[in-house]
Amino acid sequence: MQTVLADWIRDTPRGDEADAILRRCVHCGFCLATCPTYNLLGDELDSPRGRIYLVKQMLEGAPVTHRTQLHLDRCLTCRACETTCPSGVEYGKLADIGRAVIAERVSRPPRERMLRWFLARALTSSRLFAAGLALGRMARPLLPASLARRIPPRREPGAVPPARHARRMVALRGCVQPSIAPSTNAAAARVLDRLGISLVEAASAGCCGAVPFHLDYQRDALAFVKANIDAWWPEVEAGAEAIVVTASGCGTMVKDYGHLLREDPAYAKKAARISGLARDVSEVIAGEHEGLAALLRAAPKPEAKPRAVAFHSPCSLQHGQKIQGVVESILREAGFALTSVPDAHLCCGSAGTYSILQPELSRRLLHDKVRALESGGPELVATANVGCLAHLESGLSRPIVHWIELVDERLGA
Ligand code: SF4
Ligand code: SF4
Repeated sequence: MQTVLADWIRDTPRGDEADAILRRCVHCGFCLATCPTYNLLGDELDSPRGRIYLVKQMLEGAPVTHRTQLHLDRCLTCRACETTCPSGVEYGKLADIGRAVIAERVSRPPRERMLRWFLARALTSSRLFAAGLALGRMARPLLPASLARRIPPRREPGAVPPARHARRMVALRGCVQPSIAPSTNAAAARVLDRLGISLVEAASAGCCGAVPFHLDYQRDALAFVKANIDAWWPEVEAGAEAIVVTASGCGTMVKDYGHLLREDPAYAKKAARISGLARDVSEVIAGEHEGLAALLRAAPKPEAKPRAVAFHSPCSLQHGQKIQGVVESILREAGFALTSVPDAHLCCGSAGTYSILQPELSRRLLHDKVRALESGGPELVATANVGCLAHLESGLSRPIVHWIELVDERLGA
C-alpha cells in the first residue's frame, strides 16, 4: 500500500513503524473472514482492512473524528487478523499507534472518560480489586441474577511449595488474578516444583500494564512495565531461567516490553532481556517434556474413562503469542479427552475491558463461544487466561479452570 504520511508524524519512531506496517498491506481482504466484529456487524469499517484504512487516512493528515474512534474502539485487539494475513501485517501494533493518536486528538464524553479512568485504577490495583470483589461476593445474594452471574466465586489456591530448588523461575503475580483465580499460580508452582523448578514471585511486581495501555493510559502503563522490570531484575541477575506468565493476555504484554521501551535509554536493554525471558506456562511445561512424562507415569492412574475437556484457547495465546496446539498436546498427554470446539479462532468477547466498554458485542460473542465450547458435551472447560475464565464462567453451564490446574490435579494434587 502506498503511503504519504503527514509532516507531524513522518520520520518519527511511531511514524516509521506505522509506515512499514501499512506498506505491507495489499488490501486482499483475507483477514475479513476471521474478524469477529466484521462477522457480527458486516461493516467494512469494522474489519481489519477498514480499520487499517482509517489509521492510514488519519496518519496522512485526514481529520481524526469520533467515527474513527468508534471503529477502533469496537476492535477487540484479538489479532485473529494477524494470524490470517498472508502479508504479515502487524495489525495490533498499528492499532496501538492509531489509538494513541486518537487519544491525543479526540476527546471522549465525560462519562466515558470517568469509566475508563476508574477501570484503569480499579483493575490495576490488586488491593482495590480484591476489596471490590469481596464486597461483590458478599452482596451476591441480593443482586439480580444477571449481575450475580458476573461475580466470580472463590477458588481456593491450596498449599504453595517453598522455594527449595536451585532452578528458579519468576511468576508474574498480576493485578486481578490473585483475587479471581489464586489457584492458577499455585497450581503452576506445584507442577513446576515437581519438575524440580521453584516458582517465586517478586513482592513489588504487579499489573503487567496491558489494562491501562488499552484504555488510552499508555504512559501509566509504561510506569507499570518499568516497576515490574525493577522488581524482577534482582531475580534475573541471580539466574532466574524465565519470567513465567499464567495469564496469556499478560504474557503477550510482557513479551512486548522490549518493543515498548526500545527508545528508553535507561530501560531498553533490560526490557529486551525481560521479553526474551518471558514464557507462557505452556511453553515452560512443554520444554520439560521428559520430566512431565516421568511424573505422569508415576502419578495415580486416571479414571477408566478420560475426563472430557473443551479447551478455549485465548486470542492472546493463539494470535498474540502464536502458541497453537501446545496446551492441547499437554492435556492429551495428561490423559484428558479434548472435545471439538467449532470456530476456535474466534474471540470470546472478554478482551480486557471490552465486556464492560462494548457490552452488547461482547455478550453476542460470549453467547456464540459458550455454544461452541459446550457443543461437544465436555465435563468441564479449560482456558489459559484469567479474563477469559471469568467472562466465560458467567455464561457456561459447566465449571471452567485454568488448564494447569488439570495437570496439577492429574499429578495428584
Ligand atoms: S489480510 Fe493482510 S494484507 Fe490482506 S487486507 Fe488484511 S491486513 Fe491487508
Ligand atoms: S484485532 Fe480482532 S477485532 Fe480487531 S480487526 Fe483484527 S480480527 Fe478484527
